[in-house]
Amino acid sequence: MTSYAAELIANANAIVATGKGILAADESTGTIGKRFAPINVENIEENRRKYRQLLFTTKGLNKYISGVILFEETLYQKADDGTPFVDILAANNIIPGIKVDKGVVPLPGTDGETVTQGIDDLAKRCAAYYKAGARFAKWRGVLNINDSSGATPSQLAIDQNAQALARYAQLCQQSGLVPIVEPEVLMDGTHSIEHSAAITEKVLAATYKALSDHHVLLEGTLLKPNMVRSGEAAAVQASPAEIGVATVRVLQHTVPVAVPGITFLSGGLSEENASLALDALNKVPGKKPWALTFSYGRALQQSCLKAWGGKDENIPAAQETLMVRAKANSEAATGVYGGGAGGAAAKESTFVANYSY
Ligand code: 13P
Repeated sequence: MTSYAAELIANANAIVATGKGILAADESTGTIGKRFAPINVENIEENRRKYRQLLFTTKGLNKYISGVILFEETLYQKADDGTPFVDILAANNIIPGIKVDKGVVPLPGTDGETVTQGIDDLAKRCAAYYKAGARFAKWRGVLNINDSSGATPSQLAIDQNAQALARYAQLCQQSGLVPIVEPEVLMDGTHSIEHSAAITEKVLAATYKALSDHHVLLEGTLLKPNMVRSGEAAAVQASPAEIGVATVRVLQHTVPVAVPGITFLSGGLSEENASLALDALNKVPGKKPWALTFSYGRALQQSCLKAWGGKDENIPAAQETLMVRAKANSEAATGVYGGGAGGAAAKESTFVANYSY
């Protein structure tokens, strides 16, 4: 048992307070470079700092956002006036979080599958991150569906990723960080929503078995799964309502009621579809003993980045754009989103093949 139990439970619940969700701004240096390239912003530390400052100083953000996931570099950065970002967030009642995984490496002996690295020095890093102000963490395991052979995800990849997530979760809790457990089944491929449901169910079941084996305090965790949906290249695309029903059913089968909340990744859905699908999930009738909310990266930032375009004079417009999406997702998190926020720009795809973060 961890001495942080009460704090972990309080923070996990605060993150999924009604109508609130997470801004995932933890793009690694390489990934943020891919976001900056289309808007011609050079990927240097000062531009990364300026962009994150834009996000974190958006007035009123805390109405919809309860937590922000940071990349390690950002955790130690400061605003123009010298105030650390973590202090700005905490003063606004936004809980700082930290991505603690070190990306994926090949899992030899499989058909191109991966495991996530970063366990070796994790206890030490978690203690340092807690000291720096972080109160929750994220670790992403990646599973992919091979449509033609049906050979992936293999049981080996499912088990290895579940073990890594469980070890990570236990190590985080020992240092006072709420672990966000993220087993992502990628949307790449032509698979049907039924196939996605079967695979996601298998992955989540293995993940919760591993969390149980590692004695993780479920009340002090959050789950960050993919929504159950058809593959990005499938001929027939499931509607938000179909995504809602299929996803809730898989969660009912696999996620213990002790888990306070489920904070979905957007996984390549357009901004608007990510909001509509979350809204549909919350509208599904029946048992949903967890908060169902968002932890979106691309689906909160794509149009904001575009509105900014790297220019200081565009900062207010970019912040306004961020607020439009944050509000839409907040409404979706309680099932009252009417649709249409952000206009045409919000309907553009955010899909990236074989996505790394
Ligand atoms: P997306 O919402 O862009 O999928 O990213 C969320 C995330 O944190 C992935 O690990």
